[in-house]
Amino acid sequence: MAKDYYSTLGVEKSATQDDIKKAFRKLAQKHHPDKGGDEAKFKEITEAYSTLSDEKRRREYDTRGQFSGNNSGQSNYQGGFGGFGQGGVEFDFSDLFNGGGFGDIFGQGARTQARRGRDISVDIEIPFKDSVLGTSRTVLMAKVGTCDTCTGTGAKPGSEVETCKTCNGAGKVHETRNSVLGTFTNVRECTECHGSGKIPKTKCVTCSGRGVLRKEEEVKIQVPSGIDAGEMIRMPGLGEAIQNGTSGDLYIKVHVKPHKDFKKEGPHLVMNMPLKLTDALLGTTISITTIDDKKLEVKVPVMSATEETLRVKGKGVPTNRGTGDLFIHLSIKMPKKLSHKAKKSVEELKVEGI
Ligand SMILES: [Zn+2]
Ligand SMILES: [Zn+2]
Repeated sequence: MAKDYYSTLGVEKSATQDDIKKAFRKLAQKHHPDKGGDEAKFKEITEAYSTLSDEKRRREYDTRGQFSGNNSGQSNYQGGFGGFGQGGVEFDFSDLFNGGGFGDIFGQGARTQARRGRDISVDIEIPFKDSVLGTSRTVLMAKVGTCDTCTGTGAKPGSEVETCKTCNGAGKVHETRNSVLGTFTNVRECTECHGSGKIPKTKCVTCSGRGVLRKEEEVKIQVPSGIDAGEMIRMPGLGEAIQNGTSGDLYIKVHVKPHKDFKKEGPHLVMNMPLKLTDALLGTTISITTIDDKKLEVKVPVMSATEETLRVKGKGVPTNRGTGDLFIHLSIKMPKKLSHKAKKSVEELKVEGI
């Protein structure tokens, strides 16, 4: 089956040249391989555009291409693609990429992408209580950080700077590159000066002029209250540093050690409390330890079922929308065995119809 160029570009069969151009512009920006797009997909849309943007080829395609319904139909159209790269596509690419963040590919209106250090992630494990109430942790991390000696400039303090000879101070170098669309001039950041265009006369000895170096750094992590196991905390700018650029981000994945008594259900805490049969029958007061290690007396009414749940307001998880509640699941713990005397008492209850 021949390819449907109209659906490739996402346009109607009745689309005007203007519609086709607009659709291609949008897709080309999205799929350009230099911007991490899929090269095969880019080729496909360019192929479709090269045919549909040419009225003569489009008519040819309309009458034969799409409806041939077999492989020979497709081979008819390979000719159309063959011409491609030698001026087969008439499109003002500089227009296409300007303002779309692609200027740098074509060397005009060049825009160098901002340098950014790597993001890093660390895992921490905290007790359940800390996940409910919030905590802070100091982690010692080995990462690429800004050099303290030169504060990231790479120059020996007091050293003069001179224009980078590799890029003549432009901070970027032009590279010629072949692609499916022909030859392009690609602008890359100068590796000598890392885009700054300047080179210190004397390099910083601590970092050998790189401005950054691997070092151990203490990072204080603020864990908010009510965090769930597996949640990530993002700390902008605390990732790896890079010369003449912004640092990446630090991601902290929080693991939570389970608690022997409590479980978390949204903003609420849940605990189980087994009661003696007699307490269930007569009612009682139980003493529990809340998540913040406080003693709390809770009145248990006479139970009317084998399981009941008490709700203690405001003893759950503190969140920015208020503190949740504590739910206590009560269940009756049956006696393992009855003494002779106990058995007699129960028999008396039985007489009463209980
Ligand atoms: Zn340094
Ligand atoms: Zn340079």
